[in-house]
Amino acid sequence: MVKQTIQIFCRIKPTKSKTSVYEINPVEDGAHLSVMIPKEATDGYINNKKEDFRFRFRQIFDQTAKQEDVFALVARPVIDNVISGYNGTIFAYGQTGSGKTFTITGGPERFSDRGIIPRSLSYIFQQFGQHADQSHTVHVSYLEIYNENGYDLLDPKHEAAKLEDLPKVLLMEDEDQNMHLKNLSVHAAQNEEEALNLLFLGDTNRMIAETPMNQASTRSHCIFTVHVTSKEIGSATVRKAKLHLVDLAGSERVAKTNVNGLLLTEAKYINLSLHYLEQVIVALSEKHRSHIPYRNSMMTSVLRDSLGGNCMTTMIATCSVDKRNIEETISTCRFSQRVALIKNDARLNEELDPRLLINQLRAENLQLRNQITIQSGSEQFTELLTAELIAKLTEQVKNYLADTDNEATLNVGADMRKIDQCYRAFKKLHLELQEQVKTASTTPNKNSQPIYITHDISPYDSKEVKELKEIIKLRDNEISILVNMLKKEKKTEYRPFSESTTPPTDSSFSANDRAGNQ
Ligand code: ADP
Ligand code: MG
Repeated sequence: MVKQTIQIFCRIKPTKSKTSVYEINPVEDGAHLSVMIPKEATDGYINNKKEDFRFRFRQIFDQTAKQEDVFALVARPVIDNVISGYNGTIFAYGQTGSGKTFTITGGPERFSDRGIIPRSLSYIFQQFGQHADQSHTVHVSYLEIYNENGYDLLDPKHEAAKLEDLPKVLLMEDEDQNMHLKNLSVHAAQNEEEALNLLFLGDTNRMIAETPMNQASTRSHCIFTVHVTSKEIGSATVRKAKLHLVDLAGSERVAKTNVNGLLLTEAKYINLSLHYLEQVIVALSEKHRSHIPYRNSMMTSVLRDSLGGNCMTTMIATCSVDKRNIEETISTCRFSQRVALIKNDARLNEELDPRLLINQLRAENLQLRNQITIQSGSEQFTELLTAELIAKLTEQVKNYLADTDNEATLNVGADMRKIDQCYRAFKKLHLELQEQVKTASTTPNKNSQPIYITHDISPYDSKEVKELKEIIKLRDNEISILVNMLKKEKKTEYRPFSESTTPPTDSSFSANDRAGNQ
């Protein structure tokens, strides 16, 4: 278990207009942002007693910071942990126009403006490519929450003209008070391109659905979730983690009318769910609070793990230092200081998958049986290796080679003649490929008629065979126990969104999750 407070970063949006005086000073393990309020501004809406404000952050990105640096320092460590099996969340908080979307998704103009989501997807697949000894899966979902309603941004129908046309995602509570998201589609991505296409689809739906009337982009929250599983090849232990990349609604408050010199905290929120987020943050940052009001809003229910739970969470406070925005910037920084007090307990989400274990044990048993047959010479193979059978074996070899699953096996039984035939097919395919690569001019190898060879069969070793048979018996018992366990489990199976880390890799997930999607 890794105990860690929420890491807070600050990013200052570039501006050409007149700015307030601010300073960034490095301190041990972080940096201070000092904001000086000009005298004249203090007459009106700011408490005129205090003129300087100082806030501590893990790191502060000034106006000239590049997207690349923000990714490397904020997101990369979170994603490394996600790949290792820890949940991660990165959320951007700040007033409208302060750079939340630019930071999380990116700007559309230049490739170098890509934000955290596309860079994360690229990095995840790049990391996977470096671990040929592991198998991985990636699934993606994209949720927009507006006015306490959830919408599935990955609706493949492309028909949405407004937000309300998108499939509505519902928050459901089961009898154990776990929250589930019903109707949120989850999509597999085999590679970076597929994952980026999903992001593009979601952002297109997000844009189309946005109208000046509902001001969806400033008043809604968008949560892009990447579910990652990793597993050593041949192992039945799976690591599963989810990464939430969150673009929150604009944090601006509307000042009450006719108030002069009132404290910022007395102003009213535009967005009720951000108000609930603050309530959760306040409750979490105070000691001895037993009740945390997660359930007051959809967003806090979905992000329950990220706030004080099983997750490594990072916040980016996006700030504008334009003079007219200084009030909001101070409010954003104050909020982040509270967030920095929240402690999370991230657990390694590792579990033994009984289905994989069963498959693995079955494959091992088959191999052991074959080994016994070969060693004891107990079985005579009389079946003729006909041209038809050879063609079938060649086909099996081709299918095996074409199977993208790293853990695919080729099983032709314990008949050494067949095994040899497969080797021959491998060699033939290899030579053909070489030929194709080199040139098509040389004639293909015609001497590949099968030659039947006899084999020396190891002497019958009764002790070893006996031991192997014992192992098989044990494994068969284990398999049937596991199968029974699975049958029982199936009856009670459910999958909470916010608390389970189970990504949608197995049939039970897709069956459950898509059931609501029909
Ligand atoms: P928000 O999502 O917080 O409302 P945006 O990310 O949409 O704000 O930013 C508002 C505008 O400022 C956009 O046009 C965006 O491209 C631009 N912008 C924000 N941050 C930066 C930055 N760091 N560098 C360049 N342009 C930025
Ligand atoms: Mg935005």
